Amino acid sequence: MIVVIKSQTPASEVERIIQELSHYPVTTEKVVGKDKVVIGLVGDTTAIHPEHVQQISRFIEQVIRVKQPFKRVSLEYRYGEPSEVIVPTPNGLVTFGQNHPLVVVAGPCSVENEEMIVETAQVVKATGAQFLRGGAYKPRTSPYAFQGHGESALSLLAKAREVTGLGIITEVMDTADLDKVAEVADVVQIGARNMQNFSLLKKAGATGKPILLKRGLSATIEEWLMAAEYILATGNPNVILCERGIRTFDKQYTRNTLDLSVVPVLRGLTHLPIMIDPSHATGYSKYVPTMAKASVAAGTDSLMIEVHPNPSKALSDGPQSLTPEQFVELMQEIAPLAQFFGRGTKSTFTSVTPFGAKIPLTVGV
Ligand code: PEP
Ligand code: MN
Repeated sequence: MIVVIKSQTPASEVERIIQELSHYPVTTEKVVGKDKVVIGLVGDTTAIHPEHVQQISRFIEQVIRVKQPFKRVSLEYRYGEPSEVIVPTPNGLVTFGQNHPLVVVAGPCSVENEEMIVETAQVVKATGAQFLRGGAYKPRTSPYAFQGHGESALSLLAKAREVTGLGIITEVMDTADLDKVAEVADVVQIGARNMQNFSLLKKAGATGKPILLKRGLSATIEEWLMAAEYILATGNPNVILCERGIRTFDKQYTRNTLDLSVVPVLRGLTHLPIMIDPSHATGYSKYVPTMAKASVAAGTDSLMIEVHPNPSKALSDGPQSLTPEQFVELMQEIAPLAQFFGRGTKSTFTSVTPFGAKIPLTVGV
């Protein structure tokens, strides 16, 4: 249930209302939006009558029952106002959100060695990405496949961050690694296979770090939002939802099916920012640019793109990784699209990068 407070209500009256509401056996939470203050009542509210709550103060504009099972992530909980996830990086604050420029996250599937991660970071930075992605702990289907370099890869990510100033996004698979991962990551990724690992969600939420929550391989939208609710329930509001393709019946021509309809669907259900990962969604580099552009047109707040200096030699996910040159080309195509959809920024890039990638002087998204 949410209690919407009228604009211009004195702060002391808001506090008095919260005090009154605390007599109910539920948790009260003050959500301060741009225009309104909303007080959320979370817990079993079946015995609470909206008319009674309304009588607490003439400054209460409306009392609304949130019908969905997810509460804090629901759009109503912020009275329809989109939330922003603001991430401090060495290069400055980066904001994920609907009224902000498109945020691009790029990098290899796995961190393989210092040279490749630092050089890839330099390329993606010069091309306009704000975050470097790279796995230290990899969730692989086969126990015999490359599992990631673990802790030493985290140090390499820290090095890449130091050299480029890019924010770091990397996955945590095990609660035992959480502290180490949270120390290096500016955004902690919870992968598709762990979307419903509830103890991991709770502990990751409790670190206070922004969380990138990937949609489970076969998760419904409601299951995904309920997983996000676990994180918000820890008091951490900074969650970004990442669609990375779901299981359908075709395995022959695509790895997964990109469910791009989640963009408008989620807009009607939640205030949380959205990221689309066309690399894992399609599984093939040749399809990534088309679906990346489609994602921008659909209104995503952010993109995650796998980029590898030599995809044919990659230790994981080579077939879906763009070369640096392909990434530069994609970013050039995305820039005017992002501008057109009101998500552009102008930035001036430095010119020379490793791998001989041609970087235009002003692209950017
Ligand atoms: C990844 O980002 O490298 C990854 C393993 O993604 P997902 O959890 O979406 O499969
Ligand atoms: Mn991958």
